[in-house]
Amino acid sequence: MDLITSPDELHSIVAGHRRHGRSIALVPTMGALHSGHLSLIELARSRADVVVVSIFVNPLQFEDPRDFERYPRCESDDDHMCAEQGVDIVFRPEPSLLYPPGFATTVDVSGVTQTLEGSSRPGHFRGVATVVAKLFIAADPDLAVFGAKDYQQVAVIRRLTEDLGFAIDILVAPTVRESDGLAMSSRNVRLDSESRRAAAKLFQSLQAAQEACATGTTDSASLIESVIDHLRTSPLIEIDYVQIVDPHTLSPSAHAGPDDVLLVAAVVGGVRLIDNVVLGGAR
Ligand code: AMP
Repeated sequence: MDLITSPDELHSIVAGHRRHGRSIALVPTMGALHSGHLSLIELARSRADVVVVSIFVNPLQFEDPRDFERYPRCESDDDHMCAEQGVDIVFRPEPSLLYPPGFATTVDVSGVTQTLEGSSRPGHFRGVATVVAKLFIAADPDLAVFGAKDYQQVAVIRRLTEDLGFAIDILVAPTVRESDGLAMSSRNVRLDSESRRAAAKLFQSLQAAQEACATGTTDSASLIESVIDHLRTSPLIEIDYVQIVDPHTLSPSAHAGPDDVLLVAAVVGGVRLIDNVVLGGAR
């Protein structure tokens, strides 16, 4: 497994693979890898000859510097897991090579960034879109894999890929969960035991809404209210938003259909968590 820190070096190694006719998959991550990330790597492995995993805690997408500092980092565990998964290249860019002094160009995706995470975390998607565009340029992949857990992020990446003309297939892997349903996240290690128990309510409340939808409740306001009521049973949960949106435009749906997506963001014991389900489907 190659460990690369320079975008130029990555680009030339990938070009070598391309000359040999090999296809390239990119899995962008911020590290502290867990089974959710591994499922993305597995999907990439099954679809391409060469798998590149990027590991970069991107300062540009954190609006709160303390959140950036506290973000978990475990380089040697990550490298070990990547090697075990048969990853070919770990790309851990040197920040000053990705964002050299004087760096002043960012990528702004409009429309799908205006709601949900975009409203709660101003500037977040500018950081995501910018780093992903730079990773796409450096790794020059045929395909890139993202997780459905970050539903809005996928919409942003799809828009960016199309608008900037990247010839890259965007694949989406389902959310991997703990046994009580909590979506795996690198941030979960920061939950204390009480908050960890409370955090399971996020998915439970989404599932209850899926069931209510399946048995005929289509009024979004009542479904949202039931999720809020469920979450309010724990004093450790501070709700940021609960919304039902159209899967393509991400605009609110007044009447919930099976294709609509129910999303939640909440701070649980000081840790911000997000989750989502398609109303008509078990994920
Ligand atoms: P992160 O390291 O949190 O930036 O995530 C890197 C990629 O892994 C993103 O595409 C995420 O959507 C995806 N991901 C994170 N958690 C999960 C999960 N529990 N299941 C599936 N994919 C995930």
